[in-house]
Amino acid sequence: MRLLPLFAAGILVLSGCAGAPPAPPPTTGPAPAQPGIASRPGAVVASPSDVTGTRFIRVLLSGGTPEVVLEGETLRAWGADGSLAAEAAGRVTLVAVGERIRWNGSRLLGDTLDVAGAPDLRVGNRERVGRVRLLARKGELLAVAVVPLEAYVAAVVSREAPPRFLPEALAAQAVAVRTYAAGAAVKPRDPAYDVVGGVEDQVFDGMDGVPAVFREAAGRTRGLVVRYRGELARTVYHSTCGGRTEDAGSVWGKDVPYLRAQFCDDCSDSPVYRWEYRMSEAEGRRLAKALGVPPGKDLRIAVTGRTPAGRASRVQISSGGVSRELQAAEFRKAAGYAKVRSLKMEIVPVAGGWRFTGEGWGHGVGMCQFGANGMARRGAGFREILARYYPGTEISGETP
Ligand SMILES: [Zn+2]
Repeated sequence: MRLLPLFAAGILVLSGCAGAPPAPPPTTGPAPAQPGIASRPGAVVASPSDVTGTRFIRVLLSGGTPEVVLEGETLRAWGADGSLAAEAAGRVTLVAVGERIRWNGSRLLGDTLDVAGAPDLRVGNRERVGRVRLLARKGELLAVAVVPLEAYVAAVVSREAPPRFLPEALAAQAVAVRTYAAGAAVKPRDPAYDVVGGVEDQVFDGMDGVPAVFREAAGRTRGLVVRYRGELARTVYHSTCGGRTEDAGSVWGKDVPYLRAQFCDDCSDSPVYRWEYRMSEAEGRRLAKALGVPPGKDLRIAVTGRTPAGRASRVQISSGGVSRELQAAEFRKAAGYAKVRSLKMEIVPVAGGWRFTGEGWGHGVGMCQFGANGMARRGAGFREILARYYPGTEISGETP
């Protein structure tokens, strides 16, 4: 359930970790990457073991298709039994054939391959993904990067926050990202991986060219996580709350003691603190139709319910005697997250359509990223920032 944050045109396209289920402690995997590929990557996706002291997280890079393309100057693949299975230079196409993997249009190998590249390994458009485990499952090929946790944290923060954020805000973000990942490793999404490398969890685009500010944010908070009564917290975040965060219970139906609505007066410099969207009549009609209300001349779209913190919780669409009231979140998804940026909004019918005016971007639960930066500007440290947005929690080393 995470949402996603990208910065397009200087605007935080949001979505921070939305609400995916808590993530878990990273399994410890292979030894740290070595220059070159002298040896087998090791049991990269095996059970946790802290032999090397480096913790790893398993990140799903691609799935749902039969084919994965890998690139590297040289590539080497090992089978599940540890024996060298194939070598290649340049670009290799792997295809799942049932429960087996076809290597570059020729040999049919087993259902599992661990691949390392020198000097780097590229999967699709992601550069420097570390080592990758490929698994064939009923004709689908999963590509799972096994990434050192701290490198993952720096890479994710670089996608989830703008480089112009102050160091304490980036440090708070790093702790939130690490905690989410650590939680995912405790309760993996799938036996084969801990997190998805996209908006469902946290955006991971490889470790290539991660600016120093992000590596520093991860480095100076190394190993620190947020806990609530000893358990890893679900450190969700969003771009901009617009003045007040939201209760987890109002968004996801389940209360979480440390994810409660908080007043936030620190995000007013966000480019999306206030927003407006004009929905044309034609678009409103398309949307109504898509949501099951045949649009007539009397089409109405209105907020009919609000959470205690003031966000829209229900939206009603009606026309010609047909009326449907739906979850506001479902309406927002159908309308587009980049158009209806938050549910802290009003809908006003105007000539030619509707005017949506609102505050903030994202689901509003947990840490407000622009608020964190505003606090940092006031002199707050990352611990203070995390304590505000995750009240009642504490920060500790990753190992209890
Ligand atoms: Zn805020």
